[in-house]
Amino acid sequence: MQAELICFEQACRARYAITDVLYNCPKCGGLLEATYAFAHDAADLKKLWRERRMSNARLDQSGVWRYREFFPFLKDLEHVVTLREGNTPVLDAPRAARYAGLERVAFKHQGYNPTGSFKDNGMTCGASQAMALGMTRVACVSTGNTSASMAAYASAAGLQPIIFIPHGNISYGKLAQALEYGAKTLQVEANFDQILALIRVLAERLGIYLLNSINPFRIEGQKSIMVELMDQRDWQAPDWVVLPGGNLGNTSAFGKALREMKALGLIDKLPKLAVVQAEGSAPFFDFMSRPERGVFPAVEHPETLATAIKIGDPVSWPKALLEVTTTEGVVEKVTEQEIADAKAQIGLCGIGCEPASAATLAGIRKLTAAGVIDKSADVVAVLTGNVLKDPDYIYKYHTGQLKAPGGSAILSTYGNEPVVVPNDADRIAALLG
Ligand SMILES: *Cc1c(COP(=O)(O)O)cnc(C)c1O
Ligand SMILES: [Zn+2]
Repeated sequence: MQAELICFEQACRARYAITDVLYNCPKCGGLLEATYAFAHDAADLKKLWRERRMSNARLDQSGVWRYREFFPFLKDLEHVVTLREGNTPVLDAPRAARYAGLERVAFKHQGYNPTGSFKDNGMTCGASQAMALGMTRVACVSTGNTSASMAAYASAAGLQPIIFIPHGNISYGKLAQALEYGAKTLQVEANFDQILALIRVLAERLGIYLLNSINPFRIEGQKSIMVELMDQRDWQAPDWVVLPGGNLGNTSAFGKALREMKALGLIDKLPKLAVVQAEGSAPFFDFMSRPERGVFPAVEHPETLATAIKIGDPVSWPKALLEVTTTEGVVEKVTEQEIADAKAQIGLCGIGCEPASAATLAGIRKLTAAGVIDKSADVVAVLTGNVLKDPDYIYKYHTGQLKAPGGSAILSTYGNEPVVVPNDADRIAALLG
């Protein structure tokens, strides 16, 4: 199986060896993607992948590596670093469907991953490539789920994880994971973009492998989310796949996976992608809403409590543009209040998720009301992160203390405050009725 890296820019399309340590195209600076000369029979693949669900072999147990024919970039599978990622459920949520104005909706819940987010689907591939390249140290800049995931996979592989954090921008739940998983953590007096430039220099000088979201192998791993979803649905593609958009790596991965699955004959239609952004951090929405696209309208100071999608200048927007266009999808934006209320509704389904994930249900509600999504449509929303990633947000919402970035109060529409009671059976019984 021939695998190569290819420049994503249509005017360039330069090709590089799959083992070249590159993050952007050296010729034009464009994004890179892995490409393969696939030659598989769809029915054979479906049978093989289904049989592996019964296997106890290390790679077959992974909901990513079970589908390894779909991203054959490693020559030697001995390099694979796995924590049994993937294997995430598809959950029906009638209550959430009613809230969003749909007859039914299902959640593909990536919060069930080893470190609690879909970053694990990509990181298992990124860390495995680092091993294959003989690297000893890996680095990323992130205050969130990328750090937590990279720390876990690097440590599991015996690599040294190094995390760079913009100073004064710490989210404790996720940072705590990174510390526990053994990441060397450096706080830098600079913003995200400045640190990105800095770590590029350091990576080159010290031979550290970068696992930021433009890493093409992380995108390859995240394709497994769509493959596993289709496998779970017996290869019946839904009408819509809805996901939150931050750096737009996941949008790129889902679109690439869907196109490749269609080309291989694994599915016979492309679901439409609906990407949902937070209002204070919605450059891709702005870009896609303009009739004349022009220069990408990066947001200098993105704001949202959904920190996983608080990204003003998403690196993968050129890929996301292609994927949303190809699937005839849409981009929507939602307010902080809409995210908070949708999140509480997902909680009331007994499911739960982190704030960024809830942008999906809020977006579906808007798109259904606007008639873009038909109420009888077959819709899958991808919940990207675990409910326990951000307990502070949850407590504040339910107790009426949550404030939007500008300082305005977020209403506890579905608030659920703990009640202080005396140690008195009669009074508690009276209260409970
Ligand atoms: C990273 C992340 C996102 C954003 O995904 P992109 O690929 O950057 O668009 C959304 N939700 C959660 C929980 C994340 O960790
Ligand atoms: Zn190029």
